[in-house]
Amino acid sequence: MAQAFFDSDADLSVLAGRTVGILGYGNQGRSQALNLRDSGVAVIVGNQRDASFERAVADGFAAYDLSEAAARADILALLIPDEVMPEIFAEQIRPHLADGVMLILASGYNLYYRSIDLPPMADVAMIAPRMIGTGVRETYLSGEGFPSLLSVEQDHTGQALPLALAYARGIGSTRAGVFLSSAEEETVCDLFNEHFGYVYALRRAYEVLTEAGYSPEAVLLEFYASGEEMELARAHAYMGLFHQLVLHSQTSQYGQLVTGKPAPDYDAAEKARLRALIDNIRDGRFAREWKQERESGLPAFLRAQQEALSHPMIAEERRLFEALKRRQGDPSALFPDAE
Ligand code: NDP
Repeated sequence: MAQAFFDSDADLSVLAGRTVGILGYGNQGRSQALNLRDSGVAVIVGNQRDASFERAVADGFAAYDLSEAAARADILALLIPDEVMPEIFAEQIRPHLADGVMLILASGYNLYYRSIDLPPMADVAMIAPRMIGTGVRETYLSGEGFPSLLSVEQDHTGQALPLALAYARGIGSTRAGVFLSSAEEETVCDLFNEHFGYVYALRRAYEVLTEAGYSPEAVLLEFYASGEEMELARAHAYMGLFHQLVLHSQTSQYGQLVTGKPAPDYDAAEKARLRALIDNIRDGRFAREWKQERESGLPAFLRAQQEALSHPMIAEERRLFEALKRRQGDPSALFPDAE
């Protein structure tokens, strides 16, 4: 198994006298900043001057423009979206970096595709949370923590690993476990998970069941709208994918294990499709396509979004959600501030 690090492997005191600059006060940035501060770390925030900047100030942080925060901090967490990071890094961050600064990225994307020009006089590490931003804060507050993948990409000072582990401890990740990985591994696994077609698989099931005459409510409640999936996801994570089957009836277990088992030819075809997804990520085709898509004004993205949101399933979902007193598309009930 990959080497794993826990609280006992991480010494927070190596951060004493150092300032952490959180660049980007968004999903990850806000949660990581609050966690680090609660762990006793000196934190400043860098953000463009907008509502997120004001939020950082309201949360009690000293907030600066990105370039000024980059110049002031000893450790910089680059918590801006991967797709805008290369340009922002080149223009607003890199010119202000001091010798010996540490850069921490929360994803392998720009490291694997070498789309940011890393200064040789910097330590560089990836600490990629396997947790959405709200969960980073919630699991810190609950004491549970969340797992991350770690890699040291450059060790200019010879201190990159202890500093990265201290940072990981400060955000609450070594409580759960920080696993040694690589930018490539993080990128391929993360993108693959996004590309293999989960939302369309659920919609396909919806289509065939409603075409067969079953009510949208029954189908949506069966597949995801009841919230049962949240309990199942917890069971997957805490008991194990196949061990959690004991929570289901024996009829269900038989259906999942025997009836649902793919035939060898289907399995082989599906594996071939999935291997092609890996190739598409590894050889850079996905990254090039996505870059070109953004440069062209997101035509395929907006078309797919429009098609998805105008599918009849979405109107049925809205009706069901109204009956359940939920507001479709509204995250506020689900993710109130994790404070
Ligand atoms: P967000 O989408 O929440 O954005 C973060 C910040 O980036 C915001 O404060 C935003 O500022 C700023 N930003 C966006 N565009 C620009 C721009 N053009 N110029 C300047 N600032 C900009 O990012 P995430 O927190 O989701 O992601 C940050 C990193 O964390 C990424 O590397 C991502 O891969 C990684 N990650 C994210 C996870 C997640 O669950 N979201 C999970 C694990 C890793 P403003 O609000 O002012 O617009």
